[in-house]
Amino acid sequence: MDLPKFRLSPNAYALDLFVAESGTCSCCGQARELKYNSSFYSREEPDYLCPWCIADGSAAKHYEGEFNDYLGIEGVSADPDEPDSIVMDRVLLLEVCERTPSYHSWQQEQWLVHCNQPCAFLGYTDYAEIQPLQAELQADIANMPERYLQAISKTGDPVGGYLFRCVKCGMHRLHTDCT
Ligand SMILES: [Zn+2]
Ligand SMILES: [Zn+2]
Repeated sequence: MDLPKFRLSPNAYALDLFVAESGTCSCCGQARELKYNSSFYSREEPDYLCPWCIADGSAAKHYEGEFNDYLGIEGVSADPDEPDSIVMDRVLLLEVCERTPSYHSWQQEQWLVHCNQPCAFLGYTDYAEIQPLQAELQADIANMPERYLQAISKTGDPVGGYLFRCVKCGMHRLHTDCT
C-alpha cells in the first residue's frame, strides 16, 4: 500500500518522524507497520498513530489535537486581539496543525511561511548545505554570526537547522534553534 503524502512535509518518511514498528493504530484500529514518532499535542495521548490518520486529519479530529502548534506558525499572533502579521488562509494554517507531521527540535517547533502560505519542511540541515543557498536565505541569516552558522548541524548539536521551501515560489527559508 502506498504511503500517504504530506504536501508540507514531502520528505517525512526519510526523516526521523516515523519509526518502523508493527502495531495497531490508536485512531483507525488498523494493523500498521509505521508509527508516528514526533510531537502531537492533545489531552489524551495515543499510543500509536499511523501516517494515514495524520494525512486525512482523522487523528487531529479524534483527539482534538495538533501536530504543530498554531501559534508556532510564523506571522500568527499569540494575542487574539492583535491581528496576524501575515494574512493567510486558515485552511492552510490548519493543514500545518492538523494534517502535517511535526519535526524534532530543541525549542517549540516553528513553521515558516512565504508568499502568504506555510512553507514545506524539507528537513534538518547543516552549515555545508546552506552555503549554496546563502543568497536566498539572506533575510533569515543576516543577524546570525558566522560562528553560529558554522555550528548548525543535522543532529541539532549544538545548533539545530531546519530547512523550509516556499510551495509557491520555491525560495528556501531557514529556522534555527539551540538548547
Ligand atoms: Zn491510523
Ligand atoms: Zn514564496
